[in-house]
Amino acid sequence: MLLYFYLNTAKLLYFLLLFFDRLIFYHIDKSLPLCYNLGMANNLSIMIKPASAKCNAGCKYCFYRDEVQARSVKDYGTFSNELACTLIDKVLDYVGSGYLSIVFQGGEPTLAGYAFFEHFFSYLKIKNVANAKVMLSLQTNGLLIDKKWARLFKEHNVLVGVSLDGDRKATSERVVKGEELFPRILESIRILREEKVDFNILSVIHKGNVKRGKQIYEDFKKRGFSNLQFIPYLGDNPDYVLDAKDYAEFLIDTYSLYARDFNTSPTRIRQFDNYLMLIKRGYAEQCGMNGRCEPTLVFEGDGTAFPCDFYCTDEYVLGNVKHQSIEELLLSEPAIKFRSTSGLKEKCKECPYLNICKGGCKRYATSDSFCEAYKIFFSHTFK
Ligand code: SF4
Ligand code: SF4
Repeated sequence: MLLYFYLNTAKLLYFLLLFFDRLIFYHIDKSLPLCYNLGMANNLSIMIKPASAKCNAGCKYCFYRDEVQARSVKDYGTFSNELACTLIDKVLDYVGSGYLSIVFQGGEPTLAGYAFFEHFFSYLKIKNVANAKVMLSLQTNGLLIDKKWARLFKEHNVLVGVSLDGDRKATSERVVKGEELFPRILESIRILREEKVDFNILSVIHKGNVKRGKQIYEDFKKRGFSNLQFIPYLGDNPDYVLDAKDYAEFLIDTYSLYARDFNTSPTRIRQFDNYLMLIKRGYAEQCGMNGRCEPTLVFEGDGTAFPCDFYCTDEYVLGNVKHQSIEELLLSEPAIKFRSTSGLKEKCKECPYLNICKGGCKRYATSDSFCEAYKIFFSHTFK
């Protein structure tokens, strides 16, 4: 009874938030893939890795490649059409007429092939008889994108995230032969634009580019890239590890430019948009920025499910969508264990920035240097 009350109160609150956000934060929400998993029935956010960890770029700092090396199954194979049908049937059954966010990621998801996606999107459209509000997005290195792909994305309203860490130099720091890949990635972006596909740029910030925040921002702005995500490097490769003070400077510099342009020619930066949401409404759309793990499901190439992209490890196998329902996966023992281990650290409870930091994402909280960087940034920016 209590749970029923909680779910319905939360659902009502959530839709009120959505309503007011549409008025207040229209331009922010429009540009963001929303994470709708709030522990409520009929809203669901999933990630699919249709080609497992396979990739045709091989970024030197790829966190997923490192994660995969530490688990017993390195490659879960490639999603079949049959598996796609099973997954779609089950998630649609779960959400009914609610919200469904589907993110394709990898590795490089386009390696599952054009035919896979064409089938996936068509089947989803046909089977969505209850009119679930579906948001599709795909994160890519851009190397396979051509007009045919772009038209498919446009037809199905897919938001495409392209990985680009800045300029030619930054791309060479990221991938072997990056100098050669840089113009190819730009060409993919040109095609996406030409076909009017919604896209954003995702940049990993690491030791090599962290001191060029202003330059990266201005360069992206000059190129007309107005939706950005800056993701700090997480691993322990000394060539990429961030120094806390450098990362704080990066945040301060890019936030000052974001604020400069906010009212005249806005450039959306997801992390900063989320801080504004937290200040205005006390809730962020990005997982981890609310101080807890949201119940997301990640599906590997054979349907094996995990609770988070950062925890696709042997310890957190939830089951397989071939054999279990979405409810069973969300309520499985490892899923509950995973969510129960999120929570505030002691040091956060007295922190003056708790309202805006919320303790950060559990994965990032494994390193103290992010906390140090955030404190410098918050004290400088949100006095
Ligand atoms: S570890 Fe971070 S990204 Fe993963 S579910 Fe928790 S808060 Fe979200
Ligand atoms: S800045 Fe550090 S101490 Fe403060 S809430 Fe964030 S992680 Fe916790």
